[in-house]
Amino acid sequence: MGVAAGKVVVKSPREVELMRDAGRVVCRVLDALGEMIRPGVTTAALDAEAARIIREAGATALFLGVRNPQARFPFPASICSSVNDEVVHGIPGPRELREGDIVSVDCGVRLKGYCGDAARTYAVGPISALDQQLLDVTRACLTVAVEQMRPGVRWSAVARQIQDCAERAEFGVVREFVGHGIGREMHEDPKVPNYDDRRHRRDDFELVPGMTLAVEPMVTAGRPAVEFKDSARWTVATKDGSNAAHFEHTIAVTPSGNSVLTDGR
Ligand code: MG
Ligand code: MG
Repeated sequence: MGVAAGKVVVKSPREVELMRDAGRVVCRVLDALGEMIRPGVTTAALDAEAARIIREAGATALFLGVRNPQARFPFPASICSSVNDEVVHGIPGPRELREGDIVSVDCGVRLKGYCGDAARTYAVGPISALDQQLLDVTRACLTVAVEQMRPGVRWSAVARQIQDCAERAEFGVVREFVGHGIGREMHEDPKVPNYDDRRHRRDDFELVPGMTLAVEPMVTAGRPAVEFKDSARWTVATKDGSNAAHFEHTIAVTPSGNSVLTDGR
């Protein structure tokens, strides 16, 4: 186990490589689902394929069976699939994807005791210019974070860049859900917000080598406020019905910068 810096568990280079092994499985799932996604495919079919790949890799799905005190039942699937105005935590089911939809898939696995967590938003066939911009900007928010992350940088400075990237395009940054430390557990300290405001400055932290973070901008085409959409209290959607996108990588801070652990390398 790594050395604790505050409450944050810093990982050894060996632990980071184990997390990369988990990250490769996550990347394999997201690549495969990208090939499958087309009009007529159900989100349940995506979940079944993800479950098959995770099982074949000897890994376990992190989301399956997760308990959330607000929700009516434990999360029943291996991936989250969130369509159009849904932001995160959508439950796969019989819903068929339609041309013009966007679908966010979030996947986390544990392999050999270590976790990887990543998400992408996919276009289902041709999509509107606004939705294409939403996908491009949200992906760019994650890229901006990767470009900025290195030892000595404070997270609030990275978060400010993520927020500016979204808000320059007049998009919203979701406040209620944030990224997180990750390692042996899916959710570890610290909290990793995608926005910078003074109320959160007391939770600010400096990036140090061996820190492993799931960075996951959630961006809305309209206002950033969200609410539960389903009676089970899992699916989170925008209040104004605008579409949302979500891109996530698990990233290790290294002595010289950072290394993305869920990009398949
Ligand atoms: Mg995730
Ligand atoms: Mg995450």
